[in-house]
Amino acid sequence: MVSAKTSNRELRAIGASPGIAIGPVRITDRSRVAVVESEIDPAEVPAEAARFRNALAAAEAELRGIKERLEAARGPEHLYVIDTHLLILRDSMLTRETVGTIETELINAEAALKRTLQKFKDFFAGIGDEYLRERSGDVETVIERILRCMVGQSQVSVNDVEGRAIIVSHDLSPADVLQIDKSRVIGFVTDLGGKTSHSAILARALEIPAVVGLERVTAEICDGDVVIIDGGTGVVVINPDQETFRDYLRRKQHYEYLERELLKLRDLPAVTTDGHRILLKGNVEFIEEIPSLQGHGGEGIGLYRTEMLFFNRRELPDEEEQFAAYAAVVREMAPRPVTIRTLDVGGDKFVPGLNLSDELNPALGLRAIRLSLRQPETFKPQLRAILRASALGKVRIFFPMVSGVAEIRAVKALLEEAKQELRGEGKPFDEGIEIGIMIEIPSAVIVADLLAREVDFFSVGTNDLIQYSLAIDRTNEHLSHLYEPLHPAVLRSLKMVVDAAHAAGIDACMCGEMAGEPTYLPILLGLGFDELSMNAVSILRVKKILRRCSREEAERLVARALSFPTAQEVESFLQGEIAAHYAESFD
Ligand code: PEP
Ligand code: MG
Repeated sequence: MVSAKTSNRELRAIGASPGIAIGPVRITDRSRVAVVESEIDPAEVPAEAARFRNALAAAEAELRGIKERLEAARGPEHLYVIDTHLLILRDSMLTRETVGTIETELINAEAALKRTLQKFKDFFAGIGDEYLRERSGDVETVIERILRCMVGQSQVSVNDVEGRAIIVSHDLSPADVLQIDKSRVIGFVTDLGGKTSHSAILARALEIPAVVGLERVTAEICDGDVVIIDGGTGVVVINPDQETFRDYLRRKQHYEYLERELLKLRDLPAVTTDGHRILLKGNVEFIEEIPSLQGHGGEGIGLYRTEMLFFNRRELPDEEEQFAAYAAVVREMAPRPVTIRTLDVGGDKFVPGLNLSDELNPALGLRAIRLSLRQPETFKPQLRAILRASALGKVRIFFPMVSGVAEIRAVKALLEEAKQELRGEGKPFDEGIEIGIMIEIPSAVIVADLLAREVDFFSVGTNDLIQYSLAIDRTNEHLSHLYEPLHPAVLRSLKMVVDAAHAAGIDACMCGEMAGEPTYLPILLGLGFDELSMNAVSILRVKKILRRCSREEAERLVARALSFPTAQEVESFLQGEIAAHYAESFD
């Protein structure tokens, strides 16, 4: 460990949850249990296997205890993550692999469990999708808990701090984050973790500033050091000098002032100066995100990604389980509308229960709606579950990666069958449920006029539309400079989509990341979008600008923007316009 004299040292990693915190550090030991492998006698196998099973039961009892305490103290919110960990504990593969290794390799239970962990890690490491890759962190957290039970190590509480402190830890489990008492713990930094790890998602939902993925921060900071963490930029400063300290104190005050100011807009309508209303909604993956969405004035869920229900497990969720999950989201959001997207997996979003084979071009492969149409036995229960949830509140359903009319017709035929079945069974659903499609493939843009006759709304997925239009892999960091939302081809596509929607009298929505970028708002407004859906914290920033724009001016701006031949020229034009007309909205 470096001495406490380390001064003004700046580290940079992943800003997992925005906000600035300044305070003394409390190192919370979440280091890995050290495991020594030893050989055992065949006669010792039953005793070792029993030690493992007992630790498994003890870990389950611990997690249940935490869940009950949290439920009693704060209600059921956010407990989904603990349920996920309970599911991992109960996964038969965990027991089968570990006991199998004890039996065949004749090694102690701790070492066998570590080998199981390594197998899980190898499996997850090969997955392209960042979100999925990070699920390996959940497995590791669960296995560490079992290991601690096996070696009899207990864990100090995250709230065991003097005064108010910033926690520094090798890793924090979602259960740790859920237990944080914000009057004591003002932020956290960890060696491990990524932007979409469950702990990061919960930190954002609970609005606790956090920087993760620092790799060696626990070795670089001492208990009692003062640190600054900026959860927006991912910066950590250890023992700041006076100038840095003052600078961040100012930034923190400014940030908090802006947040307070933004929150004043929460209940004001998202309306332009010339009276045009645009719906601002949120993208949601976990029910835990809903309070934050409501806290930021979200007018509904514009994209509920259902794939999260299917990850991390060997058997697919059946209709009842899906119904329960969708119903919970619809009830929690009521009376606001929820737009539920059917399963968008396949390719690099791997779901074990779907038995998919490897593909050379996963982004162009058997995924999303193509997969659902190929596997009606998986698709139908999802359609039925969504339809049934529509009896409980305002629900819209939409479909990912539709490439043309034949596909949406096939989907509608299956949806009709599902409706017929439910009618026959006397199960209620909204007969007038609206259906929509994601527009994220260039062919869908080109035939948008034909597609508009088939559905009630479009929602543009710019993350994929940009990827497919410009042939730029959205996950390839070497190509990120070419991933240009303002590329003339993208802007023209957006215009075609909105124009086709409006000509057919249906709504044009957007739920890709572009919708949550405040600087693009004048363009999206000028193009005529009716609804934008984004992450919760962007909503008020976008609303602030929207309330200062006039649609008429935005339309003129778009006409100019569309005349430039390169993304760079559009960008510098847009920056110039913002500086000239909207500068004060962007502070
Ligand atoms: C998109 O492609 O823009 C989108 C919203 O869907 P996803 O990011 O889930 O692919
Ligand atoms: Mg997409």
